Amino acid sequence: MAKPTILAVDDDPQVLNAVYSDLRRRFADRYRIVRADGGTSALEALREIQSRGDSVALILSDQRMPDMSGVELLEQAKELFPDARRVLLTAYADTEAAIKAINAVRLDYYLLKPWDPPEVKLYPTLDDLLEEWQVGYRPKFDGIQVIGHRWSPDSHALKDFLGRNQIPFQWLDLSADDEASRLATQSPNARLPIVVLPDGTRLENPDHPSLAQRVGLRTQATLDFYDLIIIGGGPAGLAAAVYGSSEGLKTVMIERTAPGGQAGSSSLIENYLGFPGGVSGAELSRRAVTQASKFGVEILAPQEVCGIEVNGPFRVVRLVDGTKIAGHVVLIATGVRWRQLDAPGLVPLQGKGVYYGATMQEASLFKDETVYIVGGANSAGQAAMHFSAFAKEVKMVIRAKELGAGMSDYLMERIEKAPNIEVVSFTKVVEAHGEEQLEALTLEHVETGEQRRVETTGLFIFIGAEPFTDFVSGTVKRDEKGFILSGVDLLEGGKVAKDWPLDRDPMALETSVPGVFVAGDVRHGSMKRVASGVGEGSTSISLVHQYLRNVR
Ligand SMILES: Cc1cc2nc3c(=O)[nH]c(=O)nc-3n(C[C@H](O)[C@H](O)[C@H](O)COP(=O)(O)OP(=O)(O)OC[C@H]3O[C@@H](n4cnc5c(N)ncnc54)[C@H](O)[C@@H]3O)c2cc1C
Repeated sequence: MAKPTILAVDDDPQVLNAVYSDLRRRFADRYRIVRADGGTSALEALREIQSRGDSVALILSDQRMPDMSGVELLEQAKELFPDARRVLLTAYADTEAAIKAINAVRLDYYLLKPWDPPEVKLYPTLDDLLEEWQVGYRPKFDGIQVIGHRWSPDSHALKDFLGRNQIPFQWLDLSADDEASRLATQSPNARLPIVVLPDGTRLENPDHPSLAQRVGLRTQATLDFYDLIIIGGGPAGLAAAVYGSSEGLKTVMIERTAPGGQAGSSSLIENYLGFPGGVSGAELSRRAVTQASKFGVEILAPQEVCGIEVNGPFRVVRLVDGTKIAGHVVLIATGVRWRQLDAPGLVPLQGKGVYYGATMQEASLFKDETVYIVGGANSAGQAAMHFSAFAKEVKMVIRAKELGAGMSDYLMERIEKAPNIEVVSFTKVVEAHGEEQLEALTLEHVETGEQRRVETTGLFIFIGAEPFTDFVSGTVKRDEKGFILSGVDLLEGGKVAKDWPLDRDPMALETSVPGVFVAGDVRHGSMKRVASGVGEGSTSISLVHQYLRNVR
């Protein structure tokens, strides 16, 4: 992006060179210094800068010039760059003209020639004026812009989608931002949110697959057949992708929303090996995606698997867009989703102040507000710590007397020490209130039944998980909660089940269908940690090699 301009104007070449070099010496690192030898050429330069969409911070003009006076120039320049600071460079004899110009062209300052030494007579004044200008300066943004309302669930989903796919964008809130209104009025009847692409194309409330295509994400497989098809791009899927492709397997990874999985929404993972200061889920995902891509993994996202078929020695996955991908081996690493809290008023307010999981995109929007977090496990604790850096107060609502089961000691200690986090014990949320957005909650004491209403604009819910496994129903065996069975968990009375087709036992992480493996949170008996997901994802690859040795 071009630096903002400082324009120096004088018809006397010696004076112009002197002021130009003094300006360069002090400001060239932050501003583009441009010179013009008269009013006409100055206006030409300003028009050109305007046509490029760049900005002008300050115009420093001599008063006496043959083609037009400095005051006349500044008056016309005001039309082109109303916010630029205007300074007149005058001889002592022109002081009166300069004083008149203060009102006529809203002159910011007049400087008397000569300005030596500049450290005393030029720079302090210009420093102040530029500092003032910077306050209102909004650098031109060259990337994707999203314009919408803060409380719109569609805006929230879109921001979340772009953020999790590591696509930089600028969020413009219609209720708080003049630039947002200006851009939105260019398409008055458009459906919100609007996405403005760098080439100026406007997309009205686009669905994620179409947006994905426009921003260069890949959603279709390039090959007809793969050695390994990974379903799910969380830590387990990503680890399998890195190990599989680095060991020569033709690998495709299919992810429903964005690589990273649940870990991608974590504000700070502090117990993952090798990151003593912690690492944000977004950063860990970004690194893993780069690593997987380096080894040639094809990542399809957003793309969703809706079924698995067995076709002799081949495994085929069906995608929701109707296409199919075939391969030797499938790894299911689809993780879990947040359990929904059942209380009146929550469903219509989802995305309008009620959120499941930690949403990194939203945290800064709750600056100086009071937010409620439901849940007492590590994920809720991390979210509380993260929000405490932005919000005025964070209230953790738990049914138990105190935090304990499900939360690591280090987190509990931090929460206790955080001055703006309060643990609200023996309590549950029984109702949410609000029309356009969340306005209040009804809380109930779980022992006395006493209810009270609290005002809030943000409720974040972390109450456990259920696995994403509907798509394997009827194909792969699951436990009563839907988690996928594998290895010894498939044995019945210590013996392999009757419908197991091979004369060997299922390998660890192998499901009831040979050649279909499972890793991470979605596996029955899993640890539900980033490290264990990564461990299982990488371990699965050595089992895949064993399996392939027999089928190839
Ligand atoms: C807020 C939060 C904080 C956490 N903090 C920590 C921590 O500090 N330390 C720690 O060790 N653990 C932490 N965890 C737990 C950790 O993130 C999980 O254990 C880990 O992400 C599990 O990895 P996974 O790959 O098995 O599944 P997931 O991370 O759940 O990834 C599964 C992926 O599969 C995709 N998917 C699902 N269905 C389909 C489908 N049909 N087609 C295509 N894709 C599909 C999903 O979109 C998802 O991206 C945290 C979890 C959360 C939510």
